[in-house]
Amino acid sequence: MTAPLPSLAAARRIVVKIGSALVVDEQDAAPRARWLASVAADVAALRARGVEVVIVSSGAIALARRALGLTRRKLRLEEKQAAAAVGQIRLAGAWAEALKGQGLNAAQLLLTLEDSEDRRRYLNARATLGTLLDLGCIPVINENDTVATTEIRFGDNDRLGARVAEMIAADALVLLSDIDGLDTADPRNDPGAAHLPVVERITDEIMAMGGEPPPGYSSGGMRTKLIAARIATGAGCAMAIALGKRDHPLQALVDGARCTWFLPAEEGRSARKRWIAGSLAPLGTLVVDAGAARALKRGSSLLPAGVRQVDGQFHRGDPVSVRDAEGRELARGLSAYDAEDARRIAGSRSDAIEAILGWRGRDEIVHRDDLVVL
Ligand code: GLU
Repeated sequence: MTAPLPSLAAARRIVVKIGSALVVDEQDAAPRARWLASVAADVAALRARGVEVVIVSSGAIALARRALGLTRRKLRLEEKQAAAAVGQIRLAGAWAEALKGQGLNAAQLLLTLEDSEDRRRYLNARATLGTLLDLGCIPVINENDTVATTEIRFGDNDRLGARVAEMIAADALVLLSDIDGLDTADPRNDPGAAHLPVVERITDEIMAMGGEPPPGYSSGGMRTKLIAARIATGAGCAMAIALGKRDHPLQALVDGARCTWFLPAEEGRSARKRWIAGSLAPLGTLVVDAGAARALKRGSSLLPAGVRQVDGQFHRGDPVSVRDAEGRELARGLSAYDAEDARRIAGSRSDAIEAILGWRGRDEIVHRDDLVVL
């Protein structure tokens, strides 16, 4: 094997996706409090090592079905939406309780597919997640089932987890599951099936190992996990499928428990940069001084202090061109401020932003993750 396996403990930012069967006890349709507490302890241990953790948790519908008498096998979309409206309160409460036991604040975010596809909503969701992580919170995300019509549904939280990982440029996505990874065939009916500890590239052959989605209300199954793997690795994020049922499942993974790692695609991170550099027409220009130009070439973010002039009309998240005083284009990126605000903070130190605008925005006018030097 060429690349070393990813390590959770060495990651900067991870997303952990947790399915309904792990969160909800099938017998009494209540949250599995002890298990949740063990996950919260793992999350706290990772945070103590400097790893930022985002949780994507299912379970809203499962937590409400019994109370609402909706135990028929298949629910209509409206019934699922109603059940989610009831169960999400309990789900968020269970996480808040578990994380509080570790002195951590839980933060609830409910997203739809639209939030990951519409650029402005995407940037807003991303900015909020970034702020929550800066504040030391543990975001707990679920699909906003109550408003998600068929067209704007993720439909399954594996894919939601992958989109979130992509959105916040996570290093790793962990899908906690009832299996410890991908096998070459279904081990229940093929004795020759072999466990794969690492998948370097998601080929058609690997996709074929996913089989058909399972019946029932759980929307998961190996196929959706492989689709999630394709999204995550394509965005430069490693993904693991690991056993979730045991207590302390994340610690087990840190300690080397059996799982399947999907390695990030080489071109993943650069794809986003290509998109910024090539596919978006700049709506404005930031003219920078020589010091900022040098800093950009070294890979730094663009700070307001180095901006001399702001031209054009653009909103936060819009593409802008970065030029030197002679008009040479140095870089392209996404502005963290509207044109008007950018004009007001241009030339100022980042710690003066709050006094100038009346609110504390990002220190960078264009963050290096959103910047391509030409
Ligand atoms: N969002 C759904 C719920 O909370 C679950 C979707 C899934 O498990 O993939 O019940």
